[in-house]
Amino acid sequence: MDHQETTRPNNFIQQIISEDLKNNKNNGQVHTRFPPEPNGFLHIGHAKSICLNFTLAEQNSGVCNLRFDDTNPEKESQEFIDAIQEDIRWLGFQWEGEVRYTSSYFQALYDYAVELIQKGKAYVCSLNAEQAREYRGTLTEPGKNSPYRERSVEENLDLFERMRRGEFAEGEHALRAKIDMASPNMNMRDPIIYRIRKVDHHQTGDEWCVYPMYDFAHGLSDAIEGITHSICTLEFEDHRPLYDWFLDQLDVPCHPQQIEFARLNVNYTVTSKRKLKQLVDEQVVDGWDDPRMPTIAGMRRRGFTPRAIRNFCEATGVTKSEGVVDVGMLEHALRDDLNKHAPRAMGVLHPLKVVITNYPEDQVEQLTAPVHPQDESMGTRTLPFARELFIDVEDFKEQANKKFKRLVLGKEVRLRNAYVIRCDDVIKNQAGEIIELRCSYDPETLGKDPEGRKVKGVIHWVSAEHSLSAEVRLYDRLFDEASPDSNKERDFKAFLNKSSLQVLAECRLEASLAEAKPGQAYQFEREGYFCLDSKEGSKDHLVFNRTITLRDTWAKIANEAG
Ligand code: ATP
Ligand code: MG
Repeated sequence: MDHQETTRPNNFIQQIISEDLKNNKNNGQVHTRFPPEPNGFLHIGHAKSICLNFTLAEQNSGVCNLRFDDTNPEKESQEFIDAIQEDIRWLGFQWEGEVRYTSSYFQALYDYAVELIQKGKAYVCSLNAEQAREYRGTLTEPGKNSPYRERSVEENLDLFERMRRGEFAEGEHALRAKIDMASPNMNMRDPIIYRIRKVDHHQTGDEWCVYPMYDFAHGLSDAIEGITHSICTLEFEDHRPLYDWFLDQLDVPCHPQQIEFARLNVNYTVTSKRKLKQLVDEQVVDGWDDPRMPTIAGMRRRGFTPRAIRNFCEATGVTKSEGVVDVGMLEHALRDDLNKHAPRAMGVLHPLKVVITNYPEDQVEQLTAPVHPQDESMGTRTLPFARELFIDVEDFKEQANKKFKRLVLGKEVRLRNAYVIRCDDVIKNQAGEIIELRCSYDPETLGKDPEGRKVKGVIHWVSAEHSLSAEVRLYDRLFDEASPDSNKERDFKAFLNKSSLQVLAECRLEASLAEAKPGQAYQFEREGYFCLDSKEGSKDHLVFNRTITLRDTWAKIANEAG
């Protein structure tokens, strides 16, 4: 992809890496990884982690792995594995070598667990869930040692082996690390490292009925892959002592360094996978890739560009303290990129017929217009001009003051990239609604002002005969409340924006849009940015999505309210 229009970022993680490189730590290698769990689609928060991990690798001549952290088979699926890979590629990143799976290390992880048992650092515990909770203690009280803590190495090895063979029921036994039940850090109170789960796995089938816990599997998988810097979000800070503990006890190929940063939170947006899944399952939205979803697939379908998302992630910086980013910043990154790169077109969303009475009936002129007014290299497009046109209902008034710089009965306006017309007559139906305008054009005004008059207003139009009929979906923010998921009394779904989708069934678009590719955003002049929907619609029934309005109408509402 063409590169971001930014400089090389120098965040606190880059500073750590630079220092490590200076000291020739890890033999001067940088190896990061992005470790999604395949239990949902990636969202804007993941995009931040992807950009960070891949960019740090790239700018330090290193590499970045993609590893599916697949230790919870019940919630995971191949659908998510495929979608995640597509999203990362679309963002413009390429992982090192093959895709990796924690599940392909299940045997190695099992062997490490056996090694821990042999070293007297792990034991099979047979407390049930309720007892285990009691023994665990609280934040203010130490826990108690499990009565099974002193089982012999032989007994532990035997029980663990039999757990693996499927001799016990779920919950009957678990393998626990033997650390410190009095530790002020709850994560260190003999955490479970293996539990019995009698379920099939999407990668390993029925080969296993014991599965490793995240904290055990993660650091060891990092070590197996030779990861140098294991970057994760702040909630894992308290898990770092455990991450290091496993690596210190075991004979591992290397000891990666875990570094935490603050997760990205965006207002007016929900990024909990569980809640996004709920919106999908309850059909509040049309799937994970609904154009209103903060998922990468949704944003792609909406018309976002990878560059806009990458620039946004870059602009939000990398910090150690949690904060909330205004969604306006994401929208700004999008507008900024589309304004620079999106081809221009004309689309009439609420068509009103205009007949140019002094234009010859069979005549059609092929007018030319730039694809982008500031970028000649994007070339030109052809606009057929004929006697019957459409303009937008909102661009006409029978009477108006000078502030209304559009078409008024008896007055003139310029048709963008075409002629100046004057409205001579208004045709109404029996209900008194305007159904057609009779206008005349001035043939001397193509690309120049009429003699002796200034025409200030410019409106967009399309030829009635040559334009394409289309459905246009006007998308807006999915939530109309800044923090939909932090309200204690009301469920996040209470804050869904009821007008997040408005469908316009009868729009008319410039003929050149017949060539539009799904996901490629166009600026419909004076209206906003739109792209052909990738999922619905066909050649005979075009469907366009509004990516974003030209201006931030939410900021205006907030300003007026404040
Ligand atoms: P789950 O609740 O399912 O664990 P998760 O958001 O942590 O959700 P993962 O698939 O485990 O999902 O995330 C993959 C990587 O993306 C992790 O390293 C995680 O820290 C990072 N990540 C997830 N959400 C964000 C976010 N909002 N900002 C930055 N990084 C994130
Ligand atoms: Mg996670």
